[in-house]
Amino acid sequence: MSMDSSPLIVARRLSKSYRTASALAGVDLTISRGEAVAIMGPSGAGKSTLLLVLAGIVPVDHGSVVFDGLALHEMHDSELSSLRRERFGFVFLQGNLIPELTAVENVAMPLLVDKHSRRDAFEKAARQLDIIGFRPDKNVRCHYLSGGEMQLVAIARAMVNEPAVIFADEPTGALDQATGQEVMQVLSATTRKRGAALVLVTHDPNVANWCDRIIEIRDGMMHAEHHVRGGQQ
Ligand code: ADP
Repeated sequence: MSMDSSPLIVARRLSKSYRTASALAGVDLTISRGEAVAIMGPSGAGKSTLLLVLAGIVPVDHGSVVFDGLALHEMHDSELSSLRRERFGFVFLQGNLIPELTAVENVAMPLLVDKHSRRDAFEKAARQLDIIGFRPDKNVRCHYLSGGEMQLVAIARAMVNEPAVIFADEPTGALDQATGQEVMQVLSATTRKRGAALVLVTHDPNVANWCDRIIEIRDGMMHAEHHVRGGQQ
């Protein structure tokens, strides 16, 4: 666990409009190291946009995101993409797995891109799949897996290079309740142990309750915020 007590992410006065819609209208948010934050709120409220802005994927119109002292809006695209690759892990609904590759190859990918040896990458990937509770044959090509199994692979891939933050949009959306709870247990315990932050969007209170804090977004603004005591750990 990092001893650094400075905040990991400081977002100020974020606003973002798309051509036809306003998505964020002045959001302030500070996230600590090791903290898990759930973003909730009705559909269209701006939750996904907030996640993408915090991750430096979508630029804001106004406001700033500072990650570990780095102002994202001052960074070039190439610096931003290295930052995302090296320090962030992503779990998005679409999964973005490569269907022709096996489960273990998909999970090893961030390590191979990061120039780990094949052997090291495959060992770490296999271990991460075990940790997350993936039970099928790890050498099966992903297009043979169920939606839930693919989601487990995507989560293992997001965790394998020990990122400083994991950004997740409905990480348990394709999983049954029991598997979803297991995954949240692993995600929240692992991030806490590593001093990494977890920022997730969910509609499911049973998922949000694993986090330390729930923020509710309505009409692009912070509507409510509460701390979850102990969650379900
Ligand atoms: P949520 O995740 O809470 O459902 P979003 O952040 O996806 O909300 O969307 C917020 C608003 O911005 C909605 O009105 C949505 O239609 C609009 N929006 C989101 N993404 C885009 C986009 N790429 N282009 C245009 N409008 C968008």
